[in-house]
Amino acid sequence: MDTGMGMLSWLKSVATALLPGANDDVVNEADEAEDSGLPAVYLLATGGTIAGVGSGAEPVVYRAGAVGVETLVEAIPGINQLARVSVEQFANIGSQDMDDARWLKLSRRVNEVLARDDVDALVVTHGTDTLEETAYFLDLTVASAKPVILVGAMRPSNEISADGPANLLDAVAVAVNPETRTRGGIMAVMHGDVFEARDLVKISTVSPQAFAAPNYGPLGHVYNGQVIFRPQSGHELELFDVATLEALPAVGIVYAHANASAVPVKALVEAEYQGIVLAGVGNGNVHHQLLEALAEAARAGVVVVRASRVLSGPVVRNVEVDDERYGFIAAGTLNPQKARVLLQLALTRTREPGEIQALFERL
Ligand code: GLU
Repeated sequence: MDTGMGMLSWLKSVATALLPGANDDVVNEADEAEDSGLPAVYLLATGGTIAGVGSGAEPVVYRAGAVGVETLVEAIPGINQLARVSVEQFANIGSQDMDDARWLKLSRRVNEVLARDDVDALVVTHGTDTLEETAYFLDLTVASAKPVILVGAMRPSNEISADGPANLLDAVAVAVNPETRTRGGIMAVMHGDVFEARDLVKISTVSPQAFAAPNYGPLGHVYNGQVIFRPQSGHELELFDVATLEALPAVGIVYAHANASAVPVKALVEAEYQGIVLAGVGNGNVHHQLLEALAEAARAGVVVVRASRVLSGPVVRNVEVDDERYGFIAAGTLNPQKARVLLQLALTRTREPGEIQALFERL
């Protein structure tokens, strides 16, 4: 792909991308470059700030998911020296609108693309708000050993010091690095840090250094195209096959706080949710009013998982809350939004709390 891009053609592609209906679910695979011996990286774009455009007058106001993926790639000098890049506009949304249907479709598409002999690695551009959830969903449902790297940006594509181009270049550098494949698992690259999907969490609403891995630290760093991984043994993942699933079980999150009431739990039970994740205080603890409602939900067959609203550290089984007695599950080091992802997938297999607890301890 040609990396040089004049102002006129940039403006033209931004204008095209802003036309209503031009963005969502458009497949636009670029012509493959001649075989140069470079690894082939497939870029699936889903939107987010990395594809955002700010209004010139008010740079703080911008629309996520507005620029097409080809424009993003063309803005990065040097990407062609690292890889042969093909692009596909999978979607162009703000990731606050990510949903189960798109997750299932995305997971299937990722598996499909990675099965191709002419693809060595895959990069997914994504809004940062729910990037950690999509990363973990793919971690649990993508079967290939080829690298999959998620990447986003905190500043829109036309802002001064936009972080998208550098992040995308770093993501491609990680995607083609031979060690990435031996590590395995879905990764994310932001602001020069490499993260594994499981521990990744957004920690800033505005800073370009918006992500951290609060329990285990980053997997590595990227600097000037060089990837430096930290020493670490990989973990074996067990995958969920979502190829034929039409929908995922409904699981909600209830946030704990001082004087928390039973109302949200009752509403979820009434709406026939199959699972509830508690974003508990401290070690997954909860006000007694809410505890009683959760116990009642569990007795009624709703699967209840205790996670914590605290940024790091595990929620440990039977310590502050008697999980055994209530039939609850302890989330360990999964934060509430990722405990929700695992519970949705676990519920496609079983409703038995002991089996689900075992999955939380393994995955
Ligand atoms: N809310 C948007 C999203 O998650 C923009 C945030 C971002 O990408 O940084 O897609």
